[in-house]
Amino acid sequence: MSARLEIEGLTHSYGGDEPALSELTLSVEPGELVALLGPSGCGKTTALKVVAGLLSPTHGDVRIGGESVLGVPPERRGAAMVFQKSLLFPHMTVEGNVGFGLRMRGVPRGEARGRVERALKRVRIEGFAGRKPGALSGGQQQRVALARALVTEPRLLLLDEPLSALDANLREGMRELIKEVQREGDHTTVFVTHDQEEAVVLADRIALVTGGRLRMYDHPEAFYERPLSREIAEFFGATNFLRGQARNGCVETPLGTLRLEHPAPPGEVTLTIRPEAVRLEGGENSFSARVRGVTYLGTQVLYGLDVSGGVHLRAALPPHTRLAVGDEVTARLPAESLWALADGETTPG
Ligand code: ATP
Repeated sequence: MSARLEIEGLTHSYGGDEPALSELTLSVEPGELVALLGPSGCGKTTALKVVAGLLSPTHGDVRIGGESVLGVPPERRGAAMVFQKSLLFPHMTVEGNVGFGLRMRGVPRGEARGRVERALKRVRIEGFAGRKPGALSGGQQQRVALARALVTEPRLLLLDEPLSALDANLREGMRELIKEVQREGDHTTVFVTHDQEEAVVLADRIALVTGGRLRMYDHPEAFYERPLSREIAEFFGATNFLRGQARNGCVETPLGTLRLEHPAPPGEVTLTIRPEAVRLEGGENSFSARVRGVTYLGTQVLYGLDVSGGVHLRAALPPHTRLAVGDEVTARLPAESLWALADGETTPG
């Protein structure tokens, strides 16, 4: 049922100086959930609309199940889309809304009823079949919108920020539901979001887009452990950056010579390390530091550290760590957690 989605060299211009989307190439495996992640205005929705057939690309190709769908109208692409706002018909019941697409396709009434029932069950809203959308909460409306997409048994599920209008608690529950439904149905899914945490929680792979271009396409953990550029690292919350000169697997920095497990490209590099990987202990890659700030976050404590050479680092430690501003400590940057970013513009290889 689920199909491979291939997007190749997709460019779309609305007529401005810069295209909204430039040369986007990525492939989504059958049954995979890919998050299209990026800041507002980066071209995510444009990409999704081109895939759905709501926009024609300036150039490039979209293939679903190995076949180009560029000349195929939206309703015959086998793709179902869920939008940020549920766009339900207010005068129809939940059942009516979910079954609408089936009626349009001429599916016999009895079969349609069974399919609607199953779709409502999958999103756990079967008790609301007779209600009108106005009598549902925002989260329930989005579940109806999801059921309306699922009922058509799409080859491809396209979700455009479906949770962004919901409050934090509800969003968490809905993420779990979407993941469950997606796994059960083995739906090839593209999920658009500007929320990095949401992308990490939901996606098998993340495609990070900024300024209309794909910057990195990989598994969530790669964005934390092996970001391709400083911009990408920062998008994922990295704050520790250290300039240095790479030579023979080591990097000379203002903190001394640091050894790296992952090879660094020779020359000027920027090193990065996640705050949670910084250790307060001696050993390889260790140095003296002074605590300059303490922020208690409940599940961890964030320490700001002043190091020689005007370097500042952040360390996230377990909440029972008790250090005060001004304390002298020994900090260590484990070789396996240090990552060297090459200078200059990088694009996914
Ligand atoms: P958001 O998260 O805010 O929805 P997005 O990443 O989905 O943003 P798009 O909606 O794809 O971004 O927009 C990409 C760029 O294209 C933006 O600069 C936007 O202003 C522009 N754009 C979008 N739709 C149109 C349109 N119909 N006409 C002209 N420009 C448009």
